[in-house]
Amino acid sequence: MEADKDIQNTPTGFYCKLCDVQIPNKPSLEDHMKGKKHQHLCRLRAKRKSQEENSVYVSGFKPATSVTELTEYFQQYGPVAEVIMDKDRGLYAIVEFSEPASTDVALAQLQHRLDGLKLRIKPRERKGFKLASKAKHDPNKPQVNLEKLNHELCQTASVNEQMQKVVENFQLGENESKARELLVQLLQEVLTEFLPDCQILPFGSSVNTFGVHSCDLDLDLDLQSTQTFQNRTKRSEQTGENKSEDGQSEDSILSDIDLATASPAELLELVAAILRKCVPGVHKVQPVSTARLPVVKFSHRQLDLHGDITINNRLAVRNTRFLQLCSGLDSRVRPLVYTFRFWAKQKHIAGNPSGGGPLLNNYALTLLVFFYLQNINPPVLPTVEQLKNMACEEEECVINGWDCTFPSQPIRVPPSKNTDDLCTLLFGFFTFYHKFDFPESVLCLRSGRALPITDYEEMHNAAEGSDTKQTPSSGPKLGPVNILDPFELHHNVAGNLTERTLKNLRRELCEAEKYCRSLQYQRKSAKGKSWGLVRLFAPHEGTSRPQDGVEKVPEISVPFRAAVLRGSFRTELAAAGDASRVMWFKKVCSVVEVVFNDILKCAPTTQVELEPSSTPTDHDQEQTKLEEVNNNQKTVVDASGNRASAHPGVKRSLSEEPSSSCSPQGKRPRLDSSSAFPEAVQWTWIQRHQVWAGRRKIRRFLVKSSDEASKPEGGCRSIESRVTRYIVEKDPDPRDLLEFGVDAALVGSGELTRALLKIKPTSDPAGHFQDFFHFLDSFLLRMVETLLAKSE
Ligand code: ATP
Ligand code: MG
Repeated sequence: MEADKDIQNTPTGFYCKLCDVQIPNKPSLEDHMKGKKHQHLCRLRAKRKSQEENSVYVSGFKPATSVTELTEYFQQYGPVAEVIMDKDRGLYAIVEFSEPASTDVALAQLQHRLDGLKLRIKPRERKGFKLASKAKHDPNKPQVNLEKLNHELCQTASVNEQMQKVVENFQLGENESKARELLVQLLQEVLTEFLPDCQILPFGSSVNTFGVHSCDLDLDLDLQSTQTFQNRTKRSEQTGENKSEDGQSEDSILSDIDLATASPAELLELVAAILRKCVPGVHKVQPVSTARLPVVKFSHRQLDLHGDITINNRLAVRNTRFLQLCSGLDSRVRPLVYTFRFWAKQKHIAGNPSGGGPLLNNYALTLLVFFYLQNINPPVLPTVEQLKNMACEEEECVINGWDCTFPSQPIRVPPSKNTDDLCTLLFGFFTFYHKFDFPESVLCLRSGRALPITDYEEMHNAAEGSDTKQTPSSGPKLGPVNILDPFELHHNVAGNLTERTLKNLRRELCEAEKYCRSLQYQRKSAKGKSWGLVRLFAPHEGTSRPQDGVEKVPEISVPFRAAVLRGSFRTELAAAGDASRVMWFKKVCSVVEVVFNDILKCAPTTQVELEPSSTPTDHDQEQTKLEEVNNNQKTVVDASGNRASAHPGVKRSLSEEPSSSCSPQGKRPRLDSSSAFPEAVQWTWIQRHQVWAGRRKIRRFLVKSSDEASKPEGGCRSIESRVTRYIVEKDPDPRDLLEFGVDAALVGSGELTRALLKIKPTSDPAGHFQDFFHFLDSFLLRMVETLLAKSE
């Protein structure tokens, strides 16, 4: 099969030749082969193949011969689908027939003559199918070959060395930096012709010491001096002079535009026009005035790079200087940032290739690393406030009212006392963030502290009315992740993140933390297996990512984590041996019921339990549910769909303590099929209130007005119940908003054991399900784990 030929085994997993991607393991390989990209390329390849088989290569005709003449000539052998001519040189044509048989007939003909000339015909050359985008790559341009990188990483002696290797492989080469510098010089020269005294200043990855091959070229066009120039020219015009002091004619583009009053869109159009017309090699120029910072995008043909020009973006130039400074303060900063950036990209929590998007960008990732390095003991990096105090008078800098003072050279900053190696720091990084309460905290690099979001709101409210620029009344856009810009203190650099991104981030942090505890992370494999960063970078086993365009039943996975369970229950599980898996699942089901029934005040309609052996297909479950009438009773359904036992009118609470699964003496219980808890359970609930709407705000309000210590959302049963009660009591219009089903199934084994909760709307007339699921997506797992931690 062709599909099999596409896949190669590699030391670190698999390689798909068709898509040019590395795949770490079998489940991911299966996902990949079913994925949109692979399927699309398979179809494209099949189409190209059939086109090749149906076509002949024709030459020897007159340069003036038209497509119509060739079509008419070849139609005698069968219907012609298309004729493609080499128009520039008139040397050859490809004639594609609608049927492959026509090709054979045409090729079998000994002689072909058109317009008095003898035509040469041969079968069309069969080219191997290649990705078009790959073909365009400049072979001289450095690219990171993942397979090669993994191989190299496996050969090194330690994680420390691996991290250094990551930097070596990804960092911008000297030639690449030089090429960028030359382009900046060229732009400076051309733009100065039209905008005297302007300055074009690179910022971002090209110069912040964290750049990677092919990163974009971020530029700031500073027009402040140009505006001064324009004002001077205007004044001299009024006094009758027609030349400026610099001897430059005022008869420039500046006579058409007033920089003081021009709108961003007008300025962008002006810059775009200059780029289009006057800068050699620049193409695809596109002003985007709707971005947070209006920008002109462009590409450079020969250098094969993309650039962005923003106007008067001094804060970005300054925060780039800050990144450069921090990078120079300690040699461990760069390897950590490069490693974390690559990890985040591999795990699909960073990227936003087209600019906007719900993922973390590189700037935010870098600040996350810095914040961690400020917070370990002893710190590797000082806080921004401390840096300010180390600066001298000449280094004072205020931009748009924001204090951006810090020393210009690392030498002014005392070295860190921290002696941890990179391997330890990276592990520490994942440990620090995997438990971090992102939604309730604001990461503030200025103070180096995580501020509780409530304090932050109070601080802002108190500052309202004060007219200092440092405390503007318009606070940052708070969201699931809040990272304050180190200088522009009302800006959340992660304000674009969604709950889903946070959920993925948490899951990946958790996996990474778990992995870093293993020997596979810390020690080189003696058997030549992948270890250290190689495994850390690989998508973890069993991860199913939503494929584009493929609709999946929304699901929430509750992983088995002994650490979150109460000690006594852990002991019971340990004593239960093989039965512990089901016992844990039963406990999860009981707390899921508590969450929906008691905490979120959903009204139960049906619960169906399925025998251990009968984990059903979606279709089976639908069928079963159809059969179950709304009778408020628990039913056990066996593999063939027969009701094994029913308790009319009684709904046994699953939160009752297990009686059969563990003997009082803690002896290993024997689970026979009649006493076994099933491995799949279904419920249907009705939600009558929008318990998700405005929840976080109400929570903050209730926490503030009570003695309850602030815990993360889903971290405290009593608060969450009170929030729901508050919403329910204030709801003027309770009605059956949404009916939904939850199918819980016990899957995996050992460390990979988890309860998979598939959540589907069964009646959603007003379209509330998405919002509800969005909320559950981050709430349910945390709440379940909180309850598991309390549950005996
Ligand atoms: P890339 O390789 O993705 O271009 P980069 O290091 O240039 O990486 P970007 O995220 O593109 O990082 O950011 C470039 C610069 O733009 C940053 O150094 C920062 O000055 C500014 N910037 C980017 N995102 C933000 C943001 N959310 N808030 C404030 N400034 C930002
Ligand atoms: Mg950039």
